[in-house]
Amino acid sequence: MKGFLLFLLVLAMPALSSVIEVPAQVHSLRLAEGLQYLHVRRDSHTLPDASESWEVSGGTLAFGFDKTPLWVRFELKNTAPQARHLVLEIANPLLDQVDVWTGTAEHSSLLASAGDQRPLNGQTLLAPNIAIPLDLAAGETLPVLLRVETSGSLNVPLAIMDVSHYTGQTTALIAFQVLLLGALLGIGIYQFMVFLQLRERGFLLYSLFILFSTLTLAGLQGLPHTYFGSTYRLYADTMILVSYALALMSALSFILTALSVRASRPGYAMAAQGLTFACATALCLISVLDYGFMIRLMTVLSSSTVIVVITIQVRRMLDHYEPAYYSGGATIFAGIGVILYIAGKSGWIEPSLLTHHAADIGILLMAVFYALALSQRIDREQKLRIQAQRATMNAQKQLLTTEKTLNKELDNLVQERTRDLEEANDKLRHMSLTDPLTGLSNRRHLDQRLENSLIQSRNTATPLSLMIADIDHFKQINDTYGHPFGDACLVEVARRIQAEIPETSSTAARLGGEEFVILLEDTPHEKALLTAEAIATALRNTPVTSDGHETRLTASFGLITTIPESGTSGLDLINRADALLYRAKQNGRDRIETEPSQLENSHSVN
Ligand code: GH3
Ligand code: MG
Ligand code: MG
Repeated sequence: MKGFLLFLLVLAMPALSSVIEVPAQVHSLRLAEGLQYLHVRRDSHTLPDASESWEVSGGTLAFGFDKTPLWVRFELKNTAPQARHLVLEIANPLLDQVDVWTGTAEHSSLLASAGDQRPLNGQTLLAPNIAIPLDLAAGETLPVLLRVETSGSLNVPLAIMDVSHYTGQTTALIAFQVLLLGALLGIGIYQFMVFLQLRERGFLLYSLFILFSTLTLAGLQGLPHTYFGSTYRLYADTMILVSYALALMSALSFILTALSVRASRPGYAMAAQGLTFACATALCLISVLDYGFMIRLMTVLSSSTVIVVITIQVRRMLDHYEPAYYSGGATIFAGIGVILYIAGKSGWIEPSLLTHHAADIGILLMAVFYALALSQRIDREQKLRIQAQRATMNAQKQLLTTEKTLNKELDNLVQERTRDLEEANDKLRHMSLTDPLTGLSNRRHLDQRLENSLIQSRNTATPLSLMIADIDHFKQINDTYGHPFGDACLVEVARRIQAEIPETSSTAARLGGEEFVILLEDTPHEKALLTAEAIATALRNTPVTSDGHETRLTASFGLITTIPESGTSGLDLINRADALLYRAKQNGRDRIETEPSQLENSHSVN
């Protein structure tokens, strides 16, 4: 019974130490399942021995953010027939303190003190990942004890490799990392140059996002810790947090600009701005709070950023905003990359160079796609600008044409109006100088003509003839046939007078009533007399008919011919002719009286 209980006790106890065999043909061995570990707070002055309650790992040693130190122990057995130069690699460059002992708890010797919170020379092989050389003689079994403590993520991926395999793999790894980060840096710098050229805010934010992301990635991969020397090591963690916060802030600001969120989706923009503010606050707290808390806070903020960015992208895609398609593609690449990276790290899929760099590659593709999104936006804006310019040009052209047409129309209208006005003026002038009933000149016009004729006659010493004709007994005609017939007679008399006088250098005017004046320039007395006789005959011989009435008309004439002396006025001439007319009436009417100085002074034209 006692023996059985002892047997059960032995069964319940975990193996004292796991033995890992390293056969000759194996160059690389991942240590995960079956490792013994101790993850409890304990006195750290003494090394844990077999009596402690060791646990056995079921996979990669990963405990998240946990500051409790982790102890791991295993035994390496070289089953090869020759000595082996091996390397123990811990593929997490951000672990704060890593100590490695060989031997048992009682007879141990400290082999290495590494970790990014220790001086760089604590690590024998210079590479971002912690690597400690282990030499094993043929058939030798070497107990190894590890102590890991960190304020970040307690993730301890262990591997045993041949030195040559390790060197090859590490060289490839670093080359790959540098290449990817270099490409990202290149994109970032290029975008910054584009910004300097175009002064377009989007390019600046994007270049900042890429540059801070590159810094963050480089930091997380332990590159600055390793290559920027011992002085930087102390600040490396802070720098990761700073660049991480700035990368998130610039990513949020960039997405707002690149997808024109502020103008079209103010609510979403406010969420992004709130998150940016939270990142800024975190940035201010970096020097106050410890790294473990901060890196957790940054994880929360970056997850929120991813959610906000994806939400905005989906919203803008649903808005059919073209640049959102590119940035959506970019996010998908980054997402796939990060998932592959986590899957590789957590052991869901076989880790490889690809899974190790999946996040970098995803972010690189994302960077390329975002650059496309940005250029797409610029292109779109340029097209819109050109369209707007064209529209403005067309509008201006149209305006010009319209203006021209209007001007022409206005011009035509002005010309038409001017013509009308001139016509009206002419009419008015004509009216002011014409007798409305007969169409002959009126008294005013006669006076003007008389004035000119006097001057001309005086200057050229040519004879000027003037006669006044008065219809005989006109009152009777009016009385007999009525006023309208009288008017018709006046019109007819005017017509007959005009028919007998020369077209030029003569003026026929109606003085008023049934009195007419005929002015004949440059006309000697004889000729004027002939004209007077012709008029008298024209009146006498042909009766006037109108409105069924008919009557014969005669007129009496007073005619003078003179070369006026200076001082002689038009009125003088009219008065002289009027006196002769009076005489003609006295002498029996239907006759022409002239002045005694003329050849004959009285003409009976009967
Ligand atoms: P005499 O032979 O002496 O000239 O006689 P008379 O009747 O022609 O002369 P009087 O001066 O007495 O009359 C002129 C008439 O002319 C008076 C008026 O009725 C008429 N008369 C004046 N102006 C007009 C007019 O515009 N139209 C018409 N129908 N008659 C007019
Ligand atoms: Mg009269
Ligand atoms: Mg009369």
